[in-house]
Amino acid sequence: MLAYTYIEHGKFGLLDKPKPVLEDPRDAIVRVTLGSVCTSDLHIKHGSVPRAVPGITVGHEMVGVVEAVGTEVTNVKPGDRVTVNVETFCGECFFCRRGYVNNCTDPNGGWALGCRIDGGQAEYVRVPYADRGLNRIPDSVTDEQALFVGDILATGFWAARISEIAEEDTVLIIGAGPTGICTLQCVMLKRPEKIIVCERSDERIRFVRAHYPGVLAVKPEECRDFVRAQSRHGGADVVIEVAGADDTFRLAWECARPNAVVTVVALYDKPQVLPLPDMYGKNLTFKTGGVDGCDCAEILRLIEEGRIDTTPLITHRFPLSRIEEAYRIFENRLDGVIKVAIVG
Ligand SMILES: [Zn+2]
Ligand SMILES: [Zn+2]
Repeated sequence: MLAYTYIEHGKFGLLDKPKPVLEDPRDAIVRVTLGSVCTSDLHIKHGSVPRAVPGITVGHEMVGVVEAVGTEVTNVKPGDRVTVNVETFCGECFFCRRGYVNNCTDPNGGWALGCRIDGGQAEYVRVPYADRGLNRIPDSVTDEQALFVGDILATGFWAARISEIAEEDTVLIIGAGPTGICTLQCVMLKRPEKIIVCERSDERIRFVRAHYPGVLAVKPEECRDFVRAQSRHGGADVVIEVAGADDTFRLAWECARPNAVVTVVALYDKPQVLPLPDMYGKNLTFKTGGVDGCDCAEILRLIEEGRIDTTPLITHRFPLSRIEEAYRIFENRLDGVIKVAIVG
């Protein structure tokens, strides 16, 4: 089968590999019907994910149809349409029992698919702990509607969940890329009084204004003054930093009011500075990534009810055989791309 593979630092390639087989009674094999390319795939390509293992099939954002299940799998059966979770988790360890599935102590716990074990930019993928990692897609929900449930939408949902958003709050989201937009949709479900999105790209600001007319959008250079003017207490009550650019961590805590929650979703390429003397007395609470992706069933229900719709993010579609082109467009942000769908 075709499998897009991390060959070495800076190089991915489309290889012919054997179809995966069940290796454990808790595994499932999924035929990938729709996948996507994530910024984290680019982080692997450029060497900022040291845990990534050369030779593995990349891709961790996908939906498909269950092809085979191990003898201990009870939640899904062959023929089921499913979302695949970016995270592998056992459901039983100290962290899993508390919902911190990103820190599952299983050797493959956390982000393993498409990083440390073969992922889903391929025709088939083996999913460990299939009872945890797969969620059935309701009949009325399409593959495109469900595509981001296991990764960037799970991330946005988790970020909104942990950020302690109240109805009287002004929430600032920094970054309107794909994960920023998913975060925005999940923050909107909390109905805060005001939502401000800070984004550098004019194209993405236009996207926010077109799709979410009640949301305020601002460029980074005007962000501090704008947020202060739009807030009752000198800054945003909640800041969610999704951008991960050189200066956005500083922007995040500078825009926060005293005693605010600052949630850091972004994965940075470089270490960030936490200048404690500068922020002394601000009494901020920082929450940091990555996602605990254990809310996929609830997210699918919200999609089914029409309360979350991420399909406008899919701007391009390619067959797996042309995945190189999909990467070129996504990586270089050509042609107004937000997300590409890889059709299996
Ligand atoms: Zn991802
Ligand atoms: Zn666990």
